[in-house]
Amino acid sequence: MKRRKYKASRLAVTIYSIHVKLKKNKKRYGKMEPFVVQNKSILTIENWMNQFPELVAGITTRNGGYSKGIYRELNLGFHVGDDAQDVCANRIKTADLLDFSLNRWIGAEQIHDCIIQKVTKDDCGKGAISYTDAFKGTDGFYTDESGILLTLCFADCVPLFFIAPEKKMIGTAHAGWKGTVKTIAKQMVETWRNEGIHPEQIFVTIGPSICGKCYIVNDYVINFVKNLLEEVEEKPYNLIKEGQYSLDLREMNRLILRKAGVPDQNITMTSYCSSCNEQFFSHRRDQGQTGRMLSFIGWKETAFSL
Ligand SMILES: [Zn+2]
Repeated sequence: MKRRKYKASRLAVTIYSIHVKLKKNKKRYGKMEPFVVQNKSILTIENWMNQFPELVAGITTRNGGYSKGIYRELNLGFHVGDDAQDVCANRIKTADLLDFSLNRWIGAEQIHDCIIQKVTKDDCGKGAISYTDAFKGTDGFYTDESGILLTLCFADCVPLFFIAPEKKMIGTAHAGWKGTVKTIAKQMVETWRNEGIHPEQIFVTIGPSICGKCYIVNDYVINFVKNLLEEVEEKPYNLIKEGQYSLDLREMNRLILRKAGVPDQNITMTSYCSSCNEQFFSHRRDQGQTGRMLSFIGWKETAFSL
């Protein structure tokens, strides 16, 4: 009897210590890594895709394409000087991997601003196989229609993925330092508010991009950041030496989203850095001579028509 009691209390202690450990880990690492490797070319937001089997969402890597030289291998950006035929071949390959036909893709001429476009089926194919018919001056897309793949190009800038499942709304935005300080993240939340979506109904995933350690900026950039986050206690930057700061753009977008009313528990953030990881293109690391990854989010056509 005594022995059983002893065993039971030992078990309770063990369970308690696991509980404490998990709690500590959660505090230390935030949430689980949202991006899961599907194959050498694709990472997906697995948690979302498990919850909503009709959803396709994630980002490509630089592996497994046809581009050569500095664009090696899976460059999906038309505007960086790569051979357009290679980019098209890479896009066809990606469309196959995602099982999302290229004529359903939508792409943008991104200009580091915060213009967001609502798109419909009529827009399908714009910017899919050429840059000339991409959406001009656009850094964000959203839609509540199925059969459209919203795509944007990245090499260090922060890809933001939005979903409001109750309204079937999905969106994506491109946030480099300019888009971040112009608060494109907040812009999406406000735009959706006008669509009748409350910030508490919005879930956001912050994707692979340059990490705080790799991203060094000057006073000019930091002054914008300071002005924007005056009242925030934990700043997303650190002074390294006179006039030089390391800036965590992902964390900054998280702070902006929280300020815009998106609950902290609705936001997940990757730990993949485009500059630390050779599997990604990095504008900084590759000194501006590089290709682009593609972020994507879309509802498959069959989703709501079944
Ligand atoms: Zn890094």
